[in-house]
Amino acid sequence: MVVHLVANQSTRVRFPLPAPQFFVLLQGKTMELNASHSFHQILPWLAFSKPADQWLESMRGQTIEAQLESRRITKVCVEEMISTAAIGIGKDNNLTVYFNYYGTSLQDCIESLGHEIGHTFHYDLSKTPPIKITDDDRDEKLLYIIEDFCNLFSLKWIMVNDKKEIERCCKKAGVRFHNNS
Ligand SMILES: [Zn+2]
Repeated sequence: MVVHLVANQSTRVRFPLPAPQFFVLLQGKTMELNASHSFHQILPWLAFSKPADQWLESMRGQTIEAQLESRRITKVCVEEMISTAAIGIGKDNNLTVYFNYYGTSLQDCIESLGHEIGHTFHYDLSKTPPIKITDDDRDEKLLYIIEDFCNLFSLKWIMVNDKKEIERCCKKAGVRFHNNS
């Protein structure tokens, strides 16, 4: 599987991205990668690249629920909102992943759950509630890089998991599926 990294393309313009190919903003470079590249190789300057690599490796064979718990995602639920999915601080001061109430395709749902888990890596999970460790509110470029990180994270996460298990977890959360592709 090949992932193309192309610089200077806005994440907002190209979101949602078709799997398995998508683009990553990367400081003026175009790189061709295969899925065996680690985040540390791709984004060595990003503080959470190595933790993400290590986490993905350590989660092989774990249940989806155990994986969510290890990222302090204590709840996955359905909410009235327009995006496919989002993550936020829940009432219990842990993280909650939200899916939209009107449904999504199975593939979008699976990719979105991986994407939202990716977002947990720019939070300090040792704090209650978890605290964001990136300055993406002030640095728009970093915001795009984080989105690309999460898209790539999702692809890698799906590769170390059984899609049927992810589907089961999403169904359990009450997500409705359109056109079961
Ligand atoms: Zn995102």
